[in-house]
Amino acid sequence: MTLPPAVAALAAADFSGIVPRFVAAGFAVSEPAAGVLQIVSDPSRASVLLSVGVHGDETAPIELLAHLLDALAREPQQLAVNLMVVVGNIAAIRQARRFIDVDLNRLFCRERGLLSAVAEAARADELMVASSAFFTRAAGARWHLDLHTAIRGSLYPTFAMIPEGIVDAPRQALITLLGHAGIAAVILNRSAASTFSAYTAAQLGVTSATVELGQVSALGDNDTGRFAAAAATLARLLRDDSAPTDPVAPLVFEVVREIIKHSEAFRMAFDATTPNFTALPRDALIATDGTQVYRVEHDEERVVFPNPAVRIGFRAGLMVVRSG
Ligand SMILES: [Zn+2]
Repeated sequence: MTLPPAVAALAAADFSGIVPRFVAAGFAVSEPAAGVLQIVSDPSRASVLLSVGVHGDETAPIELLAHLLDALAREPQQLAVNLMVVVGNIAAIRQARRFIDVDLNRLFCRERGLLSAVAEAARADELMVASSAFFTRAAGARWHLDLHTAIRGSLYPTFAMIPEGIVDAPRQALITLLGHAGIAAVILNRSAASTFSAYTAAQLGVTSATVELGQVSALGDNDTGRFAAAAATLARLLRDDSAPTDPVAPLVFEVVREIIKHSEAFRMAFDATTPNFTALPRDALIATDGTQVYRVEHDEERVVFPNPAVRIGFRAGLMVVRSG
């Protein structure tokens, strides 16, 4: 199968096809690390970070962003924000794997303990340094959308995780933007996390989300028509075009508990094939971990990202409840 050149280039973290066009249009363009592109001008403009491929097997966002950048590079004067693009786990993308050693999206933190020597730790450091430098210069609004595709089915195929640390007004603007992007549900996580979006929100004051655009296909096989609303919304964001005025409100959920795997005795009542947002009634068994038993504590809780196969100490799932 032959990939469109723009998609093949972005999947290889190769920006050489688009950089000259933005340079010629008068932007300051830099590549502070492999797979990191910054195209900036007036610092008072909004600053937007779009990241893809943080999980190497999630290819639809790479295709979506490649087409978006390709179109923008043909009319570079349309770029109305300071833009940072990140192609996350380049080595994993090359191998069509989720990660090499460890899930990169668990490493955006200072203290990594035993994981400080894994392949992805150095990459997380690079991305934290580059995004910190990018947003430190920012004098306008700050956005970060970390684009993913889920590896499983979901009762809401498109949803987003909104990390803690974003104040009300920008968070509401973010939820509205996500609604226009075709996102059916948002999950508010009130506790600290080690994801890329949690890092930019908590440490850099960015209005951030991890956006799940649907199920994974092989690179080139993704039905990009399914992502038309997301593509149109991102195109508008980069051009600073006004959004449609029709109100679209995703359902809102809140995390009520993170299930952490503490030992090899950990057993879960469901597995990595369980669809996201599967509902469980009060008192239903969630997991056991030795003598520890986790049961549903609300009238209804829904499970997101259940995965009993994670490393010890990692999150094996989230329990969420509807709040809006
Ligand atoms: Zn992902």
